[in-house]
Amino acid sequence: MSRTVVVLGGGISGLAACYHLSRASHPPKVVLVEGSKRLGGWIRSVRGPDGAIFELGPRGIRPAGALGARTLLLVMLGGSWLQMLEASGCVLSQKLFQQQAQEAVATQLGLKEPPSHCLVHLHKNCIPQYTLGHWQKLESAMKFLAAQKLPLTLAGASYEGVAVNDCIESGRQAAISVLGPESNR
Ligand SMILES: Cc1cc2nc3c(=O)[nH]c(=O)nc-3n(C[C@H](O)[C@H](O)[C@H](O)COP(=O)(O)OP(=O)(O)OC[C@H]3O[C@@H](n4cnc5c(N)ncnc54)[C@H](O)[C@@H]3O)c2cc1C
Repeated sequence: MSRTVVVLGGGISGLAACYHLSRASHPPKVVLVEGSKRLGGWIRSVRGPDGAIFELGPRGIRPAGALGARTLLLVMLGGSWLQMLEASGCVLSQKLFQQQAQEAVATQLGLKEPPSHCLVHLHKNCIPQYTLGHWQKLESAMKFLAAQKLPLTLAGASYEGVAVNDCIESGRQAAISVLGPESNR
């Protein structure tokens, strides 16, 4: 009887896992469980009312062709900068973020003209920050899963790298680990 593999989360990591599972020589039944109304997770382009396309996640992912050439510059500000603003009691307004982004673009890229279109989003904790001891915790979690023979494999930005390519590779590795010796493709 064919096995069923449940993939939890339809971000790029889960989608990569589904892709590699379905390419096996004897593919299992793959059930993708996604909690939101769309696939792609943090990889998301949105179109404003005036037709301008913004990237809300990685700036390297753009639609192909002319549409991709019209997507807009992403300015990402965060980390200790945001924590410092919060600690100073500053009001975290969209106006403040836009002003800071424009200043960064002017100093770092020399773009002094104000943008014709602007979309400001505050995504708190959107990129996992690995803390000291992360790798030891991960290793101990892996050992626990193996020792308990739990049918669970971990993939995604929380574990072995946050970049899109790390996530795709972690999905591929998860599929290989689930397929075992079958993963000969
Ligand atoms: C603003 C921003 C800019 C970035 N820029 C770059 C860049 O330029 N280059 C680069 O390489 N990387 C970039 N990254 C990082 C990269 O985009 C992410 O690390 C990667 O997309 C994460 O993919 P993922 O599938 O691991 O997780 P996610 O994209 O978080 O996907 C997880 C999915 O699981 C679903 N889910 C969660 N919990 C449940 C549940 N309990 N049940 C069902 N479904 C659930 C979520 O709805 C989501 O769809 C950026 C990220 C952000 C946020």
